[in-house]
Amino acid sequence: MTQPRRAPGGFPVVGVIGGGQLARMMQSPAIALGIQLSVLAEAADASAALVVPSSPVGEHTDLESVRAFAAACDVVTFDHEHVPQDVLQALEADGVVLHPRPGALRFAQDKLAMRERLTALGISCPRWARATTVSDVTAFGDATGWPVVAKAPRGGYDGKGVRVIGSADEVADWLAEVGSDGPLGDGMLLEERVDFVRELAVLVARSPSGQAAAWPVVQTVQTDSICTQVLAPAPGLDPHLAAVVTAAGLRIAGELDVTGVLAVEMFEVRTGAGDPAYVVNELAMRPHNSGHWSIDGAVTGQFEQHLRAVLDLPLGDPGARAPWTVMGNVLGGDHPELYRAYLHVMARDPGAKVHMYGKGVRPGRKIGHVTVCGASLEDVRARATHAADYLQGVIDE
Ligand code: ADP
Repeated sequence: MTQPRRAPGGFPVVGVIGGGQLARMMQSPAIALGIQLSVLAEAADASAALVVPSSPVGEHTDLESVRAFAAACDVVTFDHEHVPQDVLQALEADGVVLHPRPGALRFAQDKLAMRERLTALGISCPRWARATTVSDVTAFGDATGWPVVAKAPRGGYDGKGVRVIGSADEVADWLAEVGSDGPLGDGMLLEERVDFVRELAVLVARSPSGQAAAWPVVQTVQTDSICTQVLAPAPGLDPHLAAVVTAAGLRIAGELDVTGVLAVEMFEVRTGAGDPAYVVNELAMRPHNSGHWSIDGAVTGQFEQHLRAVLDLPLGDPGARAPWTVMGNVLGGDHPELYRAYLHVMARDPGAKVHMYGKGVRPGRKIGHVTVCGASLEDVRARATHAADYLQGVIDE
């Protein structure tokens, strides 16, 4: 296995399990800080493996591969939530420093465990239940009103594993689809379908010694269950609600002992009296799509902050650099050729910042993002939309 080469000066090696774009985007701040990154990549051409010299290839589910990888690192963190608990616990027993630790990460790995814990903490959640039988689903729908949202507790992303069930009749169809060995066997998470005003996210970073910092609350815009744009800060957000959701994010990080970046995805709702309020949708314990804006739009971006947090260094200023920042995701489309679009995008908007992930184009896959900062939300949003659309081949002027 390729060992990371240590730089002189006592700088640590941070290991990242998983070679996706999140690990890749840690490399720029790691370079600036002189920190050596090492990535356990799923393939030699994984997004991060293309830019991090020490990127051994190995399975995150294979204890011996992960063990050999971790032995050369001072701290180990993650690009995704999929490392099994038994692997994490064996690493901890070996003395590997993991951030976040398995006891925290479990609440980002299992949506049922997350709902149980947040409810016990008194954090606002949608009404929910654990279903193990068809009659559980029917009873929940009859009690909360149809449709209901059914979620596989594990392994979902970008809306995969989430299904809206419109009526008791649909339960049987859906069960036939998931199969008899489908996720319902272990318990399925059911939620009321929240009638939300919009989706928000609060990102915080917390260090092992307990220092924490929160970025401004953002609005995430989804198209077909995939986040397509992030507006920072969330336009027109009630200042009291902003303070409440920020406090909730910091409290969740503290209570769950999260180390590194925590993203709390939320729905903004209205109470019966019409007041703005929130319910938590889900948690991610790593840098998150809703924080990509911070690379260009905040004094300290989420990838730098994550490194500082997992190394227990003092955290950086999460404040915004501009009144508005809009991040547009670039999703794979029909055109495999991406680079040519730079000519147009860069000529048209010298202020747009383009980030590409070195990933092959597949329809709907997140392959990059664009960020625009400025004084007018309308202007920066239009520019971010145009640049992302052009890069993904939706428009061709
Ligand atoms: P994933 O883990 O696949 O990202 P999420 O739980 O975030 O799944 O759900 C994906 C999307 O589905 C959310 O962004 C939201 O738009 C919608 N959604 C999820 N849960 C609910 C709910 N209880 N009520 C209404 N919409 C929901």
